[in-house]
Amino acid sequence: MGQLTSVLEANQRFAESFDKGELEIPPARNIAVLTCIDARIDPAKALGLEIGDAHVIRNAGGRATDDAVRSLLISSWLLGTREFLVIHHTDCGMAKFTDEAVAEIIAERCGEDVSELDFLTFRDLDQSVRDDVDRIRSLCQIPADATVSGHVYDVRTGTLQEVVPAE
Ligand code: ZN
Repeated sequence: MGQLTSVLEANQRFAESFDKGELEIPPARNIAVLTCIDARIDPAKALGLEIGDAHVIRNAGGRATDDAVRSLLISSWLLGTREFLVIHHTDCGMAKFTDEAVAEIIAERCGEDVSELDFLTFRDLDQSVRDDVDRIRSLCQIPADATVSGHVYDVRTGTLQEVVPAE
């Protein structure tokens, strides 16, 4: 079963000492993080977040997609987050391919044409952060008192570099 047995065993061990069952639904620190799915990023450890502290929204590239925005609206209006952090990262796979190349690779392997999908690859890492911060800031539905900042996480050093200051 691949990895399933070992993750289920790990969960049993986790649950044996679990003592955070009384947390409230709203994130305690009012933070929402939008970042990439990259396995080398552990947002909780990298940002000093404890369970219950923050929302973490992840997709390939950490892009401000419609669905990421959907989550930010729920996160902020229903659950009180007011500090949004957009975090892209060095060595991101989404900067290594064009949308066309991604579509070609998937089409070759799955046998279906996926060229209609927007894979949101990018060329310039800092610019992709700025674009996604701008997109979130431009949404009139985002709470007026929410701040959005943009950062690049370095997967080699673990360092977070600010690209767009919170505003
Ligand atoms: Zn990535």
